[in-house]
Amino acid sequence: MKILVLNAGSSSHKSCLFDLSQGAEDATPQPLWRAALDWTHQQGKVELSASGAGESIQQVLPIADKAEGLEAMVKTLVEGPTQVLESLSDIDAVGHRVVHGGREYIDSVRIDNQVKAAIQRLIPLAPAHNPANLQGIEAMEGILGHVPQVAVFDTAFHARMPEAAATYPGPYAWIEQGIRRYGFHGISHQYVAQRAADLMGQDIASLKILTCHLGNGCSLAAVKNGVCVDTTMGFTPLDGLMMGSRSGSVDPGILIYLMRQEGYTADQLDQLLNKESGLKGLSGRSNDMRAVAEAMEQGDAQAKLAIEVFIHRLRREMGAMIASLGGLDGVVFTAGMGENSPPLWQQACEPFEFLGLQLKPDLSRTKDDQDIAAADSAVRVLVVHTQEEWAIAQACHDLLQQAT
Ligand code: AMP
Repeated sequence: MKILVLNAGSSSHKSCLFDLSQGAEDATPQPLWRAALDWTHQQGKVELSASGAGESIQQVLPIADKAEGLEAMVKTLVEGPTQVLESLSDIDAVGHRVVHGGREYIDSVRIDNQVKAAIQRLIPLAPAHNPANLQGIEAMEGILGHVPQVAVFDTAFHARMPEAAATYPGPYAWIEQGIRRYGFHGISHQYVAQRAADLMGQDIASLKILTCHLGNGCSLAAVKNGVCVDTTMGFTPLDGLMMGSRSGSVDPGILIYLMRQEGYTADQLDQLLNKESGLKGLSGRSNDMRAVAEAMEQGDAQAKLAIEVFIHRLRREMGAMIASLGGLDGVVFTAGMGENSPPLWQQACEPFEFLGLQLKPDLSRTKDDQDIAAADSAVRVLVVHTQEEWAIAQACHDLLQQAT
């Protein structure tokens, strides 16, 4: 079964083709083809990159329309040096990353008009993501015709959280309004939790795992017996940990103060909290941890404070998730920072030594997933490279197999 995966954003598209002919096996295969569109650099133009059949191409195309750009991208599957398919009809299914599935979708679902209407209806909950996801689905329908399409939701893994973890303590009417903790990065949390259980050689159904997705966006999930029982992102991806340019949780009284005293509008607060806070806001330099760490090493006090706050909040939220788990068998680090930063692993884990958690003395990043806990540690600590595209392909495969 050949599955095309599309992650459609507002300013970029990423896509992969996987061959699951042998069935959806545990090991993570390399895609046959990979491509991306970047709409950010040149007005009225798109940058297309693609790799397949051992070749890669990069082009700037005079295209402003997203559907047209996607068509040009998909053509590189069947034409030119990156060709890996005879015909687009060789594609058996398309799996889409859809950010928000609301309360309706707690698992992946085959896309039909009803599902598209729900993704549309949920736009107010994910205004930065669901419109682009829907546009990607409709573009693929136009390009590929009646190929089965599957929506894999970033919220779904969190949908079985207990009500006490999902409910915000505002007025009861919020519950009816759909104001609750949804959680995000679910495809990644689910994949890395399962992968950690596999690496530990144990059944996820009997494990308490804390997953730490630390990229430009950051979130934690408490995964108990395979079910997410708590997470740090909330009604929006703004909640929880400090991130690259997002503040994470702040006292909501600050927002009321800024509105009253400084006349901030909703759009200005949105910009402030999502784009001008976090590592970028505090360091005054960059949303990129590498740049902030470099500035700290050169003696920059703001950069130092930014990293100290980041670590403090990470540890505090890790503690909260461990309380929700009621124990701890494994900690997993993933995404850009989580996969690559030995100092981060050390600083994040240090307060949990009292639980018998011990890291190996010499830590270094590797291409492969690795267990970085000392042999006699009471808790395993794993660094797992997240594979969201592969997880989407697998979910798509499993759903379509069940249907046949
Ligand atoms: P992502 O959103 O998963 O691509 O992650 C982006 C974040 O990972 C940025 O803050 C990067 O600075 C960070 N990152 C990537 N590589 C490293 C590294 N080697 N050490 C520390 N942070 C890194």
